[in-house]
Amino acid sequence: QVPDALAKEGPVSPSYDWFQTDSLVTIVIYTKQKDVNLDSVIVDHQYDSFRAETIIKDYSYLIHIELSHAIQEDFSVRVVANVGKIEIVLKKKENTSWECLGHPLENHNSLIPKKDTGLYYRKCQLISKEDATHDTKLFCLMLPPSTHLQVPIGQHVYLKLTITGTEIVKPYTPVSDSLLSEFKEPVIPNNKYIYFLIKIYPAGLFTPELDHLQIGDFVSISNPEGNFKIAQFQELEDLFLLAAGTGFTPMVKILNYALTNISSLRKVKLMFFNKTEDDIIWRSQLEKLAFKDKRFDVEFVLSQPTSEWNGKKGCISPGLLSEFLKRSLDNSKVLICICGPAAFTEQGMRMLHDLNFSKDEIHAFTA
Ligand code: FAD
Ligand code: NAD
Repeated sequence: QVPDALAKEGPVSPSYDWFQTDSLVTIVIYTKQKDVNLDSVIVDHQYDSFRAETIIKDYSYLIHIELSHAIQEDFSVRVVANVGKIEIVLKKKENTSWECLGHPLENHNSLIPKKDTGLYYRKCQLISKEDATHDTKLFCLMLPPSTHLQVPIGQHVYLKLTITGTEIVKPYTPVSDSLLSEFKEPVIPNNKYIYFLIKIYPAGLFTPELDHLQIGDFVSISNPEGNFKIAQFQELEDLFLLAAGTGFTPMVKILNYALTNISSLRKVKLMFFNKTEDDIIWRSQLEKLAFKDKRFDVEFVLSQPTSEWNGKKGCISPGLLSEFLKRSLDNSKVLICICGPAAFTEQGMRMLHDLNFSKDEIHAFTA
């Protein structure tokens, strides 16, 4: 018989403590892990609930309490990475001494597999909306001051709107506000804006409603999900990105991050599949980036080009891929990221396997 402690897989449970000064209350989470950063914790103070969800591998450690006294709207979050400690510093509304932190709410102080935790939402305000192409727009949403949330690279969130009395939820992948802004690490705390590139489908259920929102209106945003791991970039030499239509969205932060932070990187190539020239998202930014950074190349492939188009034509094919996926050195470490319509990604994956790329060398973004 396997002893309980051994049978139970998963990380050691974090613990927490708190202390106070006249004006501040600090909650300390001891994660007992080394690889924590500002993406690892999501904090929300809404209504009577204070909630801090720490993500540890596939688990979520929750602090969930009704605080005993009122606090100010904004708070700060600090991470001491080498000891795995997270500190949330709250500002008291009144300088009185707290006898206890508060009353525990559902699942307080528990470690739960992520798959068993429901998605938590907070209301975000629409700040701006700009055309990126004839049918795709860049939306900027602002998190409430009482939320700390950073979406890790390669992950998506769910947007939620109530449409004729029914809650509708769809996944979207945050992008940077542009390809040319330098990616700063660590991301500035208090980073309150989240950007999305979203294609509006006139006959779609969700996107026409999103498009009808006025500046200042609210949309709910969930906690992040997804299985892309930044560790996939370790020692990486060649990065190949295969994107179709809005399947470009996960590539935006990947491009910014890889070009700025991966010192081993020699080559980054994007093959971007679209129907027509007008459908290409951020074409001029991509061309400027390729001009500015010699490690980066972009190729556009059109499935419905006009007769004037001199570039590559057609859909994803073994011929296009084998020509495109040339390693910069015989044994260079490669990663291929692929995202687009389900049929595009499935066909692409089959072709990549046939071209002898291994599972570890491919990351497919799927639902
Ligand atoms: P839907 O109602 O789903 O319709 C989409 C299209 O299909 C419309 O043209 C509609 O007319 C047509 N259609 C619907 N039903 C049928 C039917 N029965 N027969 C034939 N045609 C039909 N999209 C982005 O723009 N940006 C992103 O960053 C992004 N990230 C994503 C991340 C993930 C992980 C996933 C899975 C998807 C992502 N998407 C993204 C797609 C997004 O989630 C939605 O699917 C998309 O916005 C369409 O939503 P909708 O409700 O407006 O359209
Ligand atoms: P689109 O219809 O404009 O097509 C863009 C290109 O995709 C086409 O030019 C063609 O080259 C290729 N393509 C389309 N259908 C194909 C098929 N059946 N077989 C092979 N190739 C095909 O694309 P869009 O409307 O921008 O749609 C983008 C898709 O990407 C959506 O389905 C969206 O859900 C998906 N998406 C997924 C994620 C994710 O999973 N993380 C993120 C963003 C977008």
